[in-house]
Amino acid sequence: MIRRGRDLRGDVVLDADAVVVGTGAGGGMAMRELARAGLDVVALEAGGHHGPADFDQREESMLPMLFEEAGARTTHDRAIRVLQGRGVGGSTVHNTNLCKRTPPELLELWERRHGVSGCGPADLAPVFDEVERDLSVAEIAETLRNPNNRVLERGVRALGVRGGPLRHNRVGCRQSGFCELGCAYDAKQNSLKVLVPQALASGRATLLSDTRADRIEHDGDGVRGVRATACDARGAEVASVTVRARVVVLAASATGSAALAWRSALPDPHDRLGRGLHLHPGAAVAGVFDERIDGFAGIPQSYECTEWLDFAEASDRRVWITTVFAHPVGTAAAMPGFGAAHTALMRQYPHLAVLVAMVHDRSEGRVEIDAEGFPVLRYTLGLRDREQLATGLRGGARLLLAAGAREVVVPSATPLRVRCEADLDAIGPWLGEPHAMPLTAVHPMGGMCLGDDPHASVVASTGEHHQVRGLFALDASLFPTSIGVPPQLSIYAFARHLARHAVERARAR
Ligand SMILES: Cc1cc2nc3c(=O)[nH]c(=O)nc-3n(C[C@H](O)[C@H](O)[C@H](O)COP(=O)(O)OP(=O)(O)OC[C@H]3O[C@@H](n4cnc5c(N)ncnc54)[C@H](O)[C@@H]3O)c2cc1C
Ligand code: SF4
Repeated sequence: MIRRGRDLRGDVVLDADAVVVGTGAGGGMAMRELARAGLDVVALEAGGHHGPADFDQREESMLPMLFEEAGARTTHDRAIRVLQGRGVGGSTVHNTNLCKRTPPELLELWERRHGVSGCGPADLAPVFDEVERDLSVAEIAETLRNPNNRVLERGVRALGVRGGPLRHNRVGCRQSGFCELGCAYDAKQNSLKVLVPQALASGRATLLSDTRADRIEHDGDGVRGVRATACDARGAEVASVTVRARVVVLAASATGSAALAWRSALPDPHDRLGRGLHLHPGAAVAGVFDERIDGFAGIPQSYECTEWLDFAEASDRRVWITTVFAHPVGTAAAMPGFGAAHTALMRQYPHLAVLVAMVHDRSEGRVEIDAEGFPVLRYTLGLRDREQLATGLRGGARLLLAAGAREVVVPSATPLRVRCEADLDAIGPWLGEPHAMPLTAVHPMGGMCLGDDPHASVVASTGEHHQVRGLFALDASLFPTSIGVPPQLSIYAFARHLARHAVERARAR
């Protein structure tokens, strides 16, 4: 059953075996697993419940409807825009459906250096198999590759570098290109379409949309439940909600889970809460082509270049290149310049092919909260990561030139124009300094990191909080390092893998 928080009034008190906070990749999976195990589950989702009929493919209505802070969330210094989802299905509603497994080298590193146990490559391989079946993950056929992705493929082949097709979770895709504004054709096999309905079909789950968890109720021994507030469509408070439960699962994202933990004054004897925030910060380069590319149409992100990315511990190849394309408002906001110069660039819109260089970041930030309890993302890109960004931007420019671009625009405050190899020298680590060029992050991770040593992590390898019994984190906040690949599949898999511990705890308490 889904109950809209906006229709609630007064004080609502519910009893359950478990309460799940957030319904994105981690929350949807946790909710389904707990309900399927026969537990009574209440899921609280701060955002609304929307479906294909609501997704009107317009930036001005979808950004406020589907994104935290209407798409305007940033790091503390406004240097990096951080896009995150809000609403039933979380960020899986507007993501681009890319599915990559956690690199085995990282799972081994987490075991070796971060005290993570029971989550090695052999433990997770069958879980990934299962999740990929659940979400119908498959490689995007070459015939479905849009011109923007074909440009990348052409560049990869011309330079003789490493690259290949990508796998996605979509079925019945009409190739409209509006993935980042929600799918009006219901083709995404995500938390909203697959997992939440499966959880509800079990008959054991209730979901309250428009209901923001404010505080985890706990005593010295363990959790008791969650206090929350239901809001109307404009955010005005309409009801207070208390869910009493033996298990609380945090799945409010890498920023939301740590923020809720801060608001709840959880014990943190080793000062670990919120630490280890990684973002995969990225920046784009645009190639101007004589022919029309129409990069806004067709399936986004179906091809990648991995020439400058590997996962060996000491590797200095830590940048991933793929395609990216914004709709008109997003493109206009990212394009440098004003007036006639900006108009001239926007006139090229149909002729642009755009690539993004995303850093597998070593830089570590921290999730904190402000006086009102809202998340503050304290994060600064360090020099080694800025060098990686420059490597990626140079690589992207080279790929575009090799694919036939007339010129490549680097949208720095004073735009750089690259027409030949010699021009590449102007691309340097300075571009990663705050406000030198637009940086965007869509993969926040960390904040409640996993590991068996309470001095170095917030939750144990089971996902359970080191100090508070019955409290679990099952979302992007678990990862002890950046993962260097799109994270949704890893989040689904970790939530699937660790949910059994939450089930056991609920039965035991
Ligand atoms: C534009 C974009 C494109 C992306 N593309 C890809 C891709 O192609 N492939 C990929 O692997 N990843 C992609 N991602 C990232 C991926 O979607 C996320 O990493 C993943 O969904 C995070 O899962 P999560 O469970 O941690 O959080 P989310 O999915 O973000 O869900 C968190 C949920 O918690 C809710 N919440 C927060 N605070 C509270 C509270 N206090 N009370 C109640 N509810 C709360 C939020 O409203 C939200 O619904 C993309 C992200 C974006 C923004
Ligand atoms: S491209 Fe496919 S998955 Fe994306 S919005 Fe269009 S129909 Fe949906």
